[in-house]
Amino acid sequence: MTIRIVVIGADAAGASAASTIKRGLKDQAHVLLLERQQWTSYAACGIPYWVSGDIPDMNSLVARSPEKHRANGLDLRTGVEAIAIDPASRTVTARTLATGEVHQHGYDHLVIATGAVPLRPPIPGLDLPGVHGVQTLDDGLAALESLSTGPARAVVIGAGYIGIEMAEAMCTRGLQTTVVDLADEPMGTLDPDMGALVRAAMEEMGIAYRGGAGVDSVQAGGDGRVAAVVTAEATYPGDIVVLGLGVRPRADLAREAGLPIGARGGIRTDAQQRVEGHEGIWAGGDCVEVLDRVSGQHTHIALGTHANKHGRIIGANIVASVTGKGPQLAFPGVVGTAISRICDLEISRTGLREAQARELGLDVVTAKVEAGTRAHYFPGGGTVHVKVIAERGTGRLLGAQIVGAAGAGKRIDAAATAIWNGMTVEEVTGLDLAYAPPFSPVWDPLQVATRRAASLV
Ligand SMILES: Cc1cc2nc3c(=O)[nH]c(=O)nc-3n(C[C@H](O)[C@H](O)[C@H](O)COP(=O)(O)OP(=O)(O)OC[C@H]3O[C@@H](n4cnc5c(N)ncnc54)[C@H](O)[C@@H]3O)c2cc1C
Repeated sequence: MTIRIVVIGADAAGASAASTIKRGLKDQAHVLLLERQQWTSYAACGIPYWVSGDIPDMNSLVARSPEKHRANGLDLRTGVEAIAIDPASRTVTARTLATGEVHQHGYDHLVIATGAVPLRPPIPGLDLPGVHGVQTLDDGLAALESLSTGPARAVVIGAGYIGIEMAEAMCTRGLQTTVVDLADEPMGTLDPDMGALVRAAMEEMGIAYRGGAGVDSVQAGGDGRVAAVVTAEATYPGDIVVLGLGVRPRADLAREAGLPIGARGGIRTDAQQRVEGHEGIWAGGDCVEVLDRVSGQHTHIALGTHANKHGRIIGANIVASVTGKGPQLAFPGVVGTAISRICDLEISRTGLREAQARELGLDVVTAKVEAGTRAHYFPGGGTVHVKVIAERGTGRLLGAQIVGAAGAGKRIDAAATAIWNGMTVEEVTGLDLAYAPPFSPVWDPLQVATRRAASLV
C-alpha cells in the first residue's frame, strides 16, 4: 500500500521534510507538496543582499527549483493553496489559484510548513506603489523594479534585523536612507544600551535613525506612488518605502482545523514536531512555537536555522513511523541565537536580554566590555562591544550580545554553546578558544566580558 503524505509549504521546513521522506521511503510513499507560489526552496535570507546588488542573480538564491523537486520524485504542485484541513477525515482541501479549481487530498501523514505572515498594522497608505514588504522572491523583484525608477530617498519602517539589512541595501544602492521605529533604539532583540551602539554606527554610515516614531500614514505624491512617511513628529520624504515590521506564525489553517495554538500564535508540537494530540499531523518552521531552553517557555522565533532542522526531524520521524526502523528525532529547543549586519557592523545575540531575565524573576549581573577584534598590534582590526548577562549567585551565563567590526559577530556561537550547556561565566572564562594575532587578542573579547562578570556574581 502506498503511504500518502501531504506537505503544505515548499520552502525551508516543508521542502526539506518532503525530500527527506522521499529519500527514505522511495516508492513506498506518494509525497504531494503544495505550494502557492511559483518558487520553492528559496533563501529569503539572501533577499536583502540581492536587492543591494551584492548578489546579482536571483536564481542563485534558489537551492532547489520546482523541476529539481519533481525530478527527485515529489508530486509538487505550485500555484496551489491549501484552504482547509480536516483531521477527522484526514483530508486537505486545496485550490489551484489560476483556475479556482478545488481538490481534496487524503493523507496518512500531513506536514504543515506554512511559514509566517508579515505584520501589517492598519496604517493608511501601506498598499501604495513603491511600498515593499520583503518576504518572497516576488517581493524582491518588486523592490528592484521600484529601484530601477531611480529613487533618491528610502524610508525603512521597522528596525529589526530585516529592516536594518534592507537599510544597508538601500544605502549600498546610493539612496539617502532613514529608518523609523517605535523603539528608541534599533534592534529590539538587543538591550537598549547595545542598540544605541547600532544607532551610533548607523548614523556614522549616513543612515538616519528616528526612534520613538510611530508611523501615522504613508502618503502618495502626484504620480500616485509613495512619497513620504508621516509620524506625529515629522514627515520623512521617501521615493521607496520598505517594511520590516516583523512576522507572526501563519497558523490560520491549523487554528480553523482545531489544532492546538499557543499563546504566541504558533502551532504547538511535541519535541518530535508532532502536532500535540494529533497522531499523523506534523508541523515545523515559522508556523510553530519552539521551546526556549533558557526561559523554559514556548516562544516564536522565525529563523531559517530552526525551520531547516524541523524539516529534517519531521522527515526522519515520518520515515521511522512508516518503516518502524530508526529512532524518533527530537528538536532540542532554542537559546535565541541570531546574527545580522548593517554595512560593516556585525550584530549578534543569544540567550536572555537583561530586561527579559529580570521579568523572569532572575537576579542578574551584567558586564560590558570594549575590545579589539585582533591583537592590538596587528593591522586591520576593529572594535567589538560585548555584553554578558549572568545569574547572581550561580554565575550561570544567561545571555550575550555582540556589536562590532568584521569578525566580531560569530563569536556569539561560543556564548550560545555555553548557554546551551548551562555553563557559568567562570567556566566560559576558562574555555580553550582559538587565538592568534590576526583573529583575536590573547583574551577573546567574550572571555574578557565573562571574566568581568565572574568578578561580580
Ligand atoms: C528578508 C529575510 C531575511 C531573512 N534572513 C534570515 C537569516 O539571516 N537567518 C535566518 O536564520 N533566517 C532568516 N530569515 C528567516 C527565514 O527565511 C525563515 O525563518 C524560513 O524561511 C522559514 O521557513 P519555513 O519553511 O517555515 O517558512 P517559509 O520559508 O515562509 O515557507 C513557507 C511556504 O509555505 C507556503 N504556503 C503558506 N501557506 C500555504 C498554503 N495555505 N498553501 C500552500 N502553500 C502555502 C508559502 O508560500 C511559503 O513558500 C529571513 C527571512 C526574510 C524574509
